[in-house]
Amino acid sequence: MEKSKDALPQNTLVMKYGGTSVGTIAAMQSAVQIICETKAERENLVVVTSAISGATNLLIQSATDAAEGNGLTSEKAARELTLRHHEMIDKLIQDPNKWLQLKMDINRLLSDFTNLCQAIKILGELSPRALDTVSSLGERLAVRILAAAVESAGFPAKAVEASQIIITDDCFQNAAPDMKLTTARCEKVLAPLLNEGIVPIVTGFMGATPDGVITTLGRGGSDYSASILAVGLRATEVWIWTDVTGVMSADPRIIPQAKTIPYLSYKEVSEMAFYGAKVLHPKSVKPCVDNQIIMRICNTFYPKKAGTLLVDNSRTTDIGKIKAVTSANGYKLITVSGAGMDNGMNVSARIFAGFVEDGVNVSMVIESSSEQSLCFPVAIKDVNRVIKMLNQVLEKEISRKDIEEIQISDTVDIITVICPGLKTNPIVIAQVLNQIDSKGIRIKALSYGASDVSLNLIVASENTKESLKCIHELISQ
Ligand code: ADP
Ligand code: ASP
Ligand code: MG
Repeated sequence: MEKSKDALPQNTLVMKYGGTSVGTIAAMQSAVQIICETKAERENLVVVTSAISGATNLLIQSATDAAEGNGLTSEKAARELTLRHHEMIDKLIQDPNKWLQLKMDINRLLSDFTNLCQAIKILGELSPRALDTVSSLGERLAVRILAAAVESAGFPAKAVEASQIIITDDCFQNAAPDMKLTTARCEKVLAPLLNEGIVPIVTGFMGATPDGVITTLGRGGSDYSASILAVGLRATEVWIWTDVTGVMSADPRIIPQAKTIPYLSYKEVSEMAFYGAKVLHPKSVKPCVDNQIIMRICNTFYPKKAGTLLVDNSRTTDIGKIKAVTSANGYKLITVSGAGMDNGMNVSARIFAGFVEDGVNVSMVIESSSEQSLCFPVAIKDVNRVIKMLNQVLEKEISRKDIEEIQISDTVDIITVICPGLKTNPIVIAQVLNQIDSKGIRIKALSYGASDVSLNLIVASENTKESLKCIHELISQ
């Protein structure tokens, strides 16, 4: 029987390139070479690309400044983005027709950007919807150049905008995919390309509502795009190409001695991503775990180095050994306390309901055993909202003086220590605490037990670097 052209092919590999991996001519050349070498070996390859490094920040800053009446940022950004993308086209594309077409496409998108910023400036307002249209432009620019460069290198490729494929809700800046619709689009749009031997090169970060309004998946969301497409395509593997050699024992920008972790369980990497390890978007892991998709993290600039392979939770190694330490930055610790805060008042339940209602993400909660105080870190941007919510939901208790105080700390960070089998190896906790104590650093809060692979400490921001450094020393021992 002849295979339908829409049938999903087998053994598809999805490779995603981050901003730095396509951010310069040399990086783009390296990305193209990896794509071509991989395509020569793997029949079914889909590529996801981020915007070139710095582009998304420039676009967002332009839109934000425009809403405040400043149009200069967008003018400057348009000039810079034109220059950087044109330079890449000049270097990477030889065919004069393609060269011209590409330059015209880039100019058109950047002229849309200038017009959008002009409209935002006139309105004096930046809607979440407009922000997503502007911020996703970086990926739409990059995808065209990467696809043309792969074609120029001799492999059929096609730029695809994810607004055609990743169908999401309308939660702008943090959209969630509808996997049923997305899978159907993968079959309709991507399968025919793959079946014709073409490499689809898809924009990361963005999607669209069923009506076609552009949405984005959250900052750093191109990793998530790769996982979403992998699920929709029933792919077997996702390779994340970035600017470091895999997931490392700490952020190498902060701890230069950090080392690549060859194997990491999905649970461990999820905790790392959730608590600040920028190398992988926190939402990108679960879709792969749920669908038994292999995930690797590799270095675009050292493609022969092995990087990190994510493994099933049951195959975790190094039980009882610290594997990594991360930090999530920019929080305030909010403490609600009062002698009258007892069981019957259901204070925690009402506070949690308030978080859900306000859409505030609280990553850890520490409750004293007598239930006379409850404390939780809140991202600085959410603090005012949370305080307002607490005063509302606890109004009665506050007026009765059952709750005496809602305290807000100075800026703190959450340090997370990754150690598999922590529950059966509590000695590790003592080692971490001793190490921190030996530097004279005071821990403001500690949470352990919710996960068997991580321990969270809260320290004042000025102590973060030193805390990371001294905990990392325990890894090398
Ligand atoms: P990309 O643009 O490729 O998505 P990101 O900047 O989002 O890259 O993520 C890669 C960066 O993540 C690295 O340059 C590194 O500084 C940072 N990072 C933070 N923690 C870690 C870690 N534990 N291991 C590796 N990289 C980390
Ligand atoms: N370009 C987007 C960002 O900077 C998405 C990504 O890089 O993953 O957030
Ligand atoms: Mg990233």
